[in-house]
Amino acid sequence: MGETELKDVSTEFQRRRTATWRGVRAWVGVLVAGFTVAVSIGDLGPGDPLTLWLPATAAFAAIMIAMFRIIRIGGRIYRCPSCDEVPMSWSGMLGPGAIGARKMVELNPDTCGSCGARLRVR
Ligand SMILES: [Zn+2]
Repeated sequence: MGETELKDVSTEFQRRRTATWRGVRAWVGVLVAGFTVAVSIGDLGPGDPLTLWLPATAAFAAIMIAMFRIIRIGGRIYRCPSCDEVPMSWSGMLGPGAIGARKMVELNPDTCGSCGARLRVR
């Protein structure tokens, strides 16, 4: 693989990253709005009125739809130009109830976790 090809992969990846953000940003807005409503309503019990349950249910539905759309759009566009995989990395977790590692989608990776191609333009 020559130097030119390496540069092309990172340039193409940055283009896809921008395209992904353009595609999902409206849904990120919906997600943030849904969480804001859900947090401001707080915990609901059986005694709470329908006027609280309705916006809470709508906020929950909006969050689910937005997350689904973001995953769908991201999974389609946000891929490494070299190996066509979504760039992932392992992230360590340490908390009161959890210790371990999980796979996370890298939002601004230096290199692809699957094939090692350089994804960030220097
Ligand atoms: Zn790759």
